[in-house]
Amino acid sequence: MFDFFKGFGVTFSTMFKKVVTEEYPEDFPPAAPRYHGRHQLNRHPDGLEKCVGCELCAWACPADAIYVEGGDNTEEARYSPGERYGAIYQINYLRCIGCGLCVEACPTRSLTMTNFYELADDNRQDLIYTKEQLMAPLLPGMEQPPHPMRLGDDEQDYYVQGPTLAKVSAQDPTKEQVR
Ligand code: SF4
Ligand code: SF4
Repeated sequence: MFDFFKGFGVTFSTMFKKVVTEEYPEDFPPAAPRYHGRHQLNRHPDGLEKCVGCELCAWACPADAIYVEGGDNTEEARYSPGERYGAIYQINYLRCIGCGLCVEACPTRSLTMTNFYELADDNRQDLIYTKEQLMAPLLPGMEQPPHPMRLGDDEQDYYVQGPTLAKVSAQDPTKEQVR
């Protein structure tokens, strides 16, 4: 009996509240800061890619949604500091469950997740995102790879001293004055 009145109480209390209408997609409400949205492959401050093609993210994925093929950097065509880079990188959003285990597995902090949540389409192929779609945009001061290492001579320089070197190189972009 008490539940009966309790139920009507909820109905009556909501009858006079203002109706909430979201004008999506015209209004694009932002997701919570830690929302697990579309992935992003990040860059070093000079534009080189952080991904080293190690496939750890693919092995960590419980949904088998990631496909990676590593490639060798050469002095003529360098995409990341060190030996290897992610030559082919795909995430299948038909499979991804947004768990974030791939992000945790990534040793270089290359892989992170953005707040972008519009992951729907009218065909299956377009939901397999390619490396080009997942790469972070080039920010001011960054250069589209392939190009030589601007922030140091090896990976250590990029990962240990990278942030400091980036600040100095932003003031003067020549490598000699950075070191
Ligand atoms: S978020 Fe989870 S399911 Fe999606 S690609 Fe990463 S590990 Fe796989
Ligand atoms: S995103 Fe990270 S874990 Fe995945 S292949 Fe690249 S470096 Fe390895």
